[in-house]
Amino acid sequence: MSFDYDLFVIGGGSGGVRAARVAAAEGVKVALAEEDRYGGTCVIRGCVPKKLMVFASEYSGIVEDAQAYGWDIKPGAFDWDVFKGKLNAELDRLEGIYRNLLANSGVETFDLRAKMVDAHTVELADGSRKSAKHILLAMGGRPVWPEIPGSELGISSNEIFHLEKLPENILIVGGGYIACEFAGIMNGLGVKTTQYYRGAQILRGFDDEARGLVCEEMCQRGVDVHLGTNILEMRKEGDKIWVKATNGDERLFDQVMFATGRTPNTDNMGLEDIGVALGRKGEVLVDDYSQTGVPSVFAVGDVTDRVNLTPVAIREGMAFVETVFKGNPTTVDHDLIPTAIFTQPEMGTVGLSEEQAREVEPIEVFATSFKPMQQSFAGRAERVLMKLIVSQASRKVLGCHIVAPGAGEMIQLAGIAVKMGATKEDFDRTVAVHPTMSEEIVTMKAPVRRS
Ligand code: NDP
Repeated sequence: MSFDYDLFVIGGGSGGVRAARVAAAEGVKVALAEEDRYGGTCVIRGCVPKKLMVFASEYSGIVEDAQAYGWDIKPGAFDWDVFKGKLNAELDRLEGIYRNLLANSGVETFDLRAKMVDAHTVELADGSRKSAKHILLAMGGRPVWPEIPGSELGISSNEIFHLEKLPENILIVGGGYIACEFAGIMNGLGVKTTQYYRGAQILRGFDDEARGLVCEEMCQRGVDVHLGTNILEMRKEGDKIWVKATNGDERLFDQVMFATGRTPNTDNMGLEDIGVALGRKGEVLVDDYSQTGVPSVFAVGDVTDRVNLTPVAIREGMAFVETVFKGNPTTVDHDLIPTAIFTQPEMGTVGLSEEQAREVEPIEVFATSFKPMQQSFAGRAERVLMKLIVSQASRKVLGCHIVAPGAGEMIQLAGIAVKMGATKEDFDRTVAVHPTMSEEIVTMKAPVRRS
């Protein structure tokens, strides 16, 4: 049987683009369909614009600190229009790079939505059909809104980059990565920021001590965090949004942003009709090789709802190419993935939290919390945390948790040691880099707890 292509990829985000161009480099005939902008969530409405907004928002504090260091400078006003113009230009540039990468690798692209017709055929939004020996689903995910009266008045992280003007005040709902990162961003940009989270502490699933410190520092910097609080009802009142909360508060906000989770983009894709099984959240169910129950159809990235991070999607895409086009069956190792949450202060983490590790085996906890030199000199009360979770039996470092400016950069390197199976004694053997914050990670002598 002959097909139009060897591989048809649906979705031009991190996972899809990488798989398409690596496969094409192997001489495979590849096509890719994308209904929106190339680059996907990460480049267009996620990691990249978010990080640029984090940078923008940090300058308010930097100016204050510079004054404390003797600089004769005055904080000025933040110009959203100037930033937004530069941001959009940067995203256009990056999208151009993604398009060029595909074109230069010989991938044929269709700027159209695609859906599945049968195990080897996709139908594009213009009605044309394309056949392929293999199909890769890489449609990613999208934000979900809670079902409460008036929730359509809110926005998600998709829209926050396109606001006409910065609000004077904003309510952010949720306690995950996105909610906490944007609470810091908005607060830093001078927007009065309130955050409602329904649970007892933000960043559920991360180390308790680490997330406790992040929350404390966020409050210290001016974010009005309400724990155990959710929205009951919203409605328009003039040009504001009236919000009634579970704690009895009734308040007016200029904007309400929901960061209440994301869902895989599998609606109306014809997947179940052709026998591709979906999970409870609508995620494509795959085996360790990213293969669905339909042998010609594979899926990578957020659409599979495994670990929803760009570098993971990229690895899944590469492993798919190894498996299918290079005759080298390759699984993706989802264990000990370092990650950073770009809150202010940042949190970097790899491995088990103290709470998770304690359930597995007897542990020792090494932790130190202190005021870093740079901020302390500037008169800030800010504290940082360095924490290691160590197996009593093997002495291996099971988890490393850092809350500090630059924690994202630090955890990438600590992640190598933890992934290699380094023991606490390996950390101790490493000479400290002085004076730094991260030197504390190799100088913690006695455990603070054994359990
Ligand atoms: P998360 O799943 O991390 O968080 C969702 C939050 O919304 C949770 O606090 C959850 O509460 C809350 N929530 C869910 N439903 C409701 C509801 N009906 N009413 C009120 N609150 C609700 O999702 P995010 O959207 O923050 O992020 C999605 C994923 O994107 C992350 O898991 C991560 O993989 C990725 N990401 C990674 C980043 C990074 O690497 N720096 C940055 C941004 C995103 P509860 O805890 O009670 O369930």
